[in-house]
Amino acid sequence: MTTEREHFTSARRRTLLKGAVVGAVPVVTGLLGGGLAFSGSASAADTLPEYAPVPAASVGPALNADGYYVGRIRGNLYWVTDAYYQAMFLTTTEGVVLVDAPPTIGHNLLRAIDDVTRANGMPNKVTHLVYSHSHADHVGASAIFGKNVVRIGHTETRRLLLLDGDPNRPAPTETFDHRYVLNVGGERLELAYHGPNHSPDNIFIYAPAQRTLMVVDVLFPGWVPFKNLAVSQDIPAWVKAHDVVMEYPWQVLVGGHLGRLGVRADGDIQKQYVADLDAAVRNASATVDPTPYFQKYGPSGNSWAIFKTYLDAVARQAAEPVVAKYTGILAAADVFTVDNAFALLESQRIDGGLLGPFGVHQ
Ligand SMILES: [Zn+2]
Repeated sequence: MTTEREHFTSARRRTLLKGAVVGAVPVVTGLLGGGLAFSGSASAADTLPEYAPVPAASVGPALNADGYYVGRIRGNLYWVTDAYYQAMFLTTTEGVVLVDAPPTIGHNLLRAIDDVTRANGMPNKVTHLVYSHSHADHVGASAIFGKNVVRIGHTETRRLLLLDGDPNRPAPTETFDHRYVLNVGGERLELAYHGPNHSPDNIFIYAPAQRTLMVVDVLFPGWVPFKNLAVSQDIPAWVKAHDVVMEYPWQVLVGGHLGRLGVRADGDIQKQYVADLDAAVRNASATVDPTPYFQKYGPSGNSWAIFKTYLDAVARQAAEPVVAKYTGILAAADVFTVDNAFALLESQRIDGGLLGPFGVHQ
């Protein structure tokens, strides 16, 4: 059941999200999504920064009138995107196995599954829902599938979701610690936990017959990683997860974000981006002179201002050559590389012990 207002806001959000992808966003005043009041105007948009164009190779297939694209990966494995998020699903003789339920795709997941099963004659009922990890932006539409679906996830995903207590994300009832094989109606998924990376519970979901790996918030095919290296909680482990991804014999990668699937070259290029950024941050740490920051803010005792301006200067200097190298190759290099440099800098400091001017006092 949806109320009038929920219906109204979700229809409006659908229009907004669609507008953001295909063209200019309409000028709107009112309520967005969860009731956040905002007012937009053309002049406010005019003051926003300009960024380099998105390379054509980073863009996925065009969306339909409802704001989604659904396509076959291989055999009975399909993926769906709204150009922001991605989910994948297997159609089987016993029902649909869905991996993730991103809220921005929301009820379009049902439409996409209907499109496919109407054509291939398989049942359209989602019987199993696999959670890649607990985060609401990837599984926040789980409740759409009701109570009679088997929810599968890592033990830590269950623990985190019981703590969150979000009615939109019922905790998985089928859990595992290391490995879990899901066989439904002649199809197979292999779930594996390789330790924390982006989040403490992020798992690898492999479809062996389709040579397809789904790992969310690690690889971003065609794009630089989201802000602060995908807001990852364990940066060294997130970097190592790139190698784990590449050890699987996949040919198609579902990254969970943006509008297209990944190929192996996307993994190689993101590894190179992270390696380049890591080297640039080390270089900037070694060359940015901290003296002016202490001179400016030391006398007034504003310690945080020293940290902020110095660390920002290191991140900016580190980002510069990396943005230059990747602009035109990875979309949004000029949007998130300074933030990504900052995340690496902070990890080099607190995980690596490279504390620069804040090291052991002589
Ligand atoms: Zn996440």
